[in-house]
Amino acid sequence: MAPSQFVPPVAGPELAAYGGQLRDSFGRPITDLRISVTDRCNFRCVYCRSADPETHVAEGHLLTWEEMERLARILIGLGIRKVRVTGGEPLVRPGVENFIARLHMLGVADLAITTNGHLLAEKCEALIAAGLNRINISLDSLDPVKFERITRTRSLDRVLAGIAVAQKSLLRPVKVNAVLVRGINDDEVEAFAEFAREHDLIMRFIEFMPLDGDRHWSRESVVTNDEVLRRVQARCSLTEISHERSETARRYRFAGGRGEIGLISPVSQPFCGHCSRIRLTADGKVRTCLFSQKDHDLRALLRGGADDSAVEHRIREVVHQKERGHRINETGFTPPSRTMVSIGG
Ligand code: SAM
Ligand code: SF4
Repeated sequence: MAPSQFVPPVAGPELAAYGGQLRDSFGRPITDLRISVTDRCNFRCVYCRSADPETHVAEGHLLTWEEMERLARILIGLGIRKVRVTGGEPLVRPGVENFIARLHMLGVADLAITTNGHLLAEKCEALIAAGLNRINISLDSLDPVKFERITRTRSLDRVLAGIAVAQKSLLRPVKVNAVLVRGINDDEVEAFAEFAREHDLIMRFIEFMPLDGDRHWSRESVVTNDEVLRRVQARCSLTEISHERSETARRYRFAGGRGEIGLISPVSQPFCGHCSRIRLTADGKVRTCLFSQKDHDLRALLRGGADDSAVEHRIREVVHQKERGHRINETGFTPPSRTMVSIGG
């Protein structure tokens, strides 16, 4: 189906009042918002952050919770239905539970968080009380030595404890995300699959993308999800589960019914044609694609006293510039100079 034939997923008086569903220039409805609430992190994963000491943007450059809430409210009025709170590490910013509660009160029905899990065991209950519906926990190794090599922390036990607490809660079934990098953790595919079965959770394999701080990415470092599927199928029988077109993961359930795997293949099988996402960076910029060369500032507008309709107008203009796709597989592709989480550029 050509992007221009997409049907708006939301319609109604509240959207009409705002001039209708937010769409990009290819007709894709934008319904999914990622809010990065901080650039800070208590881990330094090798495929994400540089090993250099952190250079944080100054406190005053980060959006306040009130500013983030205001942008979220405007965006919800434009048809955003799913909000995922991320970072940096979202759980290190004090007040994140309160922010989730405010998003919940704005009527976000699908409210998720992505976390490295370090602080999860102690915060899980408060996050659920605030209205969190879903959780993704990153876990790149089940081996303590390798976990330390990847994250440059010794937090494996804390992350496993966080997963266990979430899996016993209303957030069940939790999604656990692993980024596989050839030569680092690609030998753990089978162990991760077993982990999913044992704990009856959803183990998702994400292909390594050229957005890393240390610039180690190469095509050879990517473990394609076709390889992952072949290797898991060599051990266990899997049944494919149907999924929504806009969902990024191909999903498979283990025979016997316990556990699932999800394959997210931005490199080998890009899903840009159905992309419904935009991101808001912690310093108030809209990022229309993970691979955008340029972010679009809203902070100056907010702080300059713009009213909601001026902000809405700017958002529509920016979304109109959303890229058709990420071009990783095109000749001459140049990754952005920033990482997945860096801001301020
Ligand atoms: N700190 C939180 C965490 O690790 O879950 C949230 C932010 S982190 C940037 C969100 C997700 O992006 C994590 O699952 C992480 O593994 C993934 N990620 C970071 N850099 C990546 C890269 N170069 N390629 C693929 N995934 C990446
Ligand atoms: Fe931090 Fe998440 Fe990046 Fe790891 S992937 S360094 S936990 S932001």
